Amino acid sequence: MTNIRGKQALERIRKIKPFVQASLNITNKRCGNPGCRCAQEGPLHEVALLTWKEQKRTHTLYVPIELRQEVERWVQEGKLLKRLVAEVSQAQREFLTSKKRRRKSKKI
Ligand SMILES: [Zn+2]
Repeated sequence: MTNIRGKQALERIRKIKPFVQASLNITNKRCGNPGCRCAQEGPLHEVALLTWKEQKRTHTLYVPIELRQEVERWVQEGKLLKRLVAEVSQAQREFLTSKKRRRKSKKI
């Protein structure tokens, strides 16, 4: 039981691809090797990190360069899923509200 808005969002959810609810950040870091160029003059190493919060703690995970684009797609899909979840919730609330109104107008 849903309305058109809910149906459309549910259809899109069915097509969801692999996702992750996190953000991908590119930062510059020193690798920690005292013999490396980054220890003295630089440039620093560009590092991609996946960051997310779990029970109020921030977690990070290193993302290899060859997986950056793929992981970026997961992040975008995760954002889309979050929007769709909110959309279905809103549709179901609207569905209930419309039932209430209809019942009132019929004076049951
Ligand atoms: Zn280095």
